[in-house]
Amino acid sequence: MKQAKACFLLHEASVALALEHTNYEQICFPDPSNFQPLQVEFTKMAADPSIVNLGQGFPDISPPSYVKEELAKVAAVDRLNQYTRGFGHPSLVKALSQVYERVCGRKIDPLTDILVTVGAYGSLFSTMQALIEEGDEVIIIEPFYDCYEPMVKMAGAKPVYIPLRYKNDGKSASSADWVLDPAELANKFNSKTKAIILNTPHNPTGKVFTREELQVIADLCIKHDTLCISDEVYEWLVYKGNKHIKIATLPGMWERTITIGSAGKTYSVTGWKLGWSIGPQNLIKHLQVVHQNTLYACPTPLQEALAQALWIDYKRMDDPDCYFYSLSRELESKRDRMAQLLQEAGLKPVVPDGGYFMIVDVSTLNVDLSGVDEKQPYDYNFVKWMITSKKLSAIPVSAFCGPETKRQFEKYIRFCFIKEDSTLDAAEVILKNWNKQTA
Ligand code: PMP
Repeated sequence: MKQAKACFLLHEASVALALEHTNYEQICFPDPSNFQPLQVEFTKMAADPSIVNLGQGFPDISPPSYVKEELAKVAAVDRLNQYTRGFGHPSLVKALSQVYERVCGRKIDPLTDILVTVGAYGSLFSTMQALIEEGDEVIIIEPFYDCYEPMVKMAGAKPVYIPLRYKNDGKSASSADWVLDPAELANKFNSKTKAIILNTPHNPTGKVFTREELQVIADLCIKHDTLCISDEVYEWLVYKGNKHIKIATLPGMWERTITIGSAGKTYSVTGWKLGWSIGPQNLIKHLQVVHQNTLYACPTPLQEALAQALWIDYKRMDDPDCYFYSLSRELESKRDRMAQLLQEAGLKPVVPDGGYFMIVDVSTLNVDLSGVDEKQPYDYNFVKWMITSKKLSAIPVSAFCGPETKRQFEKYIRFCFIKEDSTLDAAEVILKNWNKQTA
């Protein structure tokens, strides 16, 4: 495992310079724009409470009451307010191993095959720092969750992009229309390829990769002896007619896959920021080293409460009322309502098969954006205009693309629909008046 990563070197160099110089203007810090996800800018713009925020991906629906109650109970136990095991609180790793043994149909050792981290973000970070080295190439599927690119660069590696391509079979637009071209994907693999980052169900399109699509990726990973970093934070959010399949369950893939999950997405508690990485001991042990020397441990009360919530749902995994399934039923009607509203307003939604985002083609509106920053992609200017003129926020899909592909996705913006009916009502008023106001 590589010890000194680019980000740490840069940081050390900056600190050394800072100590030597008194004129901070002269200090050469790394350019922060290279490492800042673009979503951050739009999240700041949408912070004004008069804006209906369908941009940033957080639920404003209530988390299940038993999840909140477990946290309240735990806070009353003195022992559970102190540090716990660094790689994951014992009862949480046990609960996770039971749930995922059932899902994956294999033995998962709670102590060696799981690392609990600060959100799925922390899992992505420890995975990249532990397993990706300077000079490596990492394949990223566009559009992509925006921290993948800076994290790959911070590990000193080169992101290699491949876009999902639009293949409409003439039926109504759905996330399944977005596919990887197998030949194009095969061309991205070479002797420097260390890993591919997969995200299913996918943010921002909502695509749920089929078994056949996963098999193409798995075959290439095995052929080129590469890792697969599989971000599955929306694993329980799949809509009727679709099934989430873990690539780690395909033959020959457990050995080379880190599967990442999130309490925030599982229980609609994004503020808990607890996530986990699951994989074979020989890979997870490197993530544990990074975690031990950066964060050491995650908050005990949150981990214990999450463990208790998981036990409750583990015991009813055969019951449709299990939250793992009931949330997607609740969201499916919000998805359908959102798609209809957008369609009525003259936009073209791409109906997602999973997750809680919907991308929408806004080019049909022909909004006149003359006088805006022409260097920026259309969606970027469109969202800025929509926030200011319509008081509705979204995220431009080009923010999820590498430099070469931004123009390919610039007619799409992303809405988040895991929202209270009152928030969707407010969006409905804006969308219903849309044409009147622009006329
Ligand atoms: N991966 C994806 C695809 C996400 O959408 C998110 C959150 N929006 C994360 C990872 C980060 O999850 P967490 O909040 O658990 O860090």
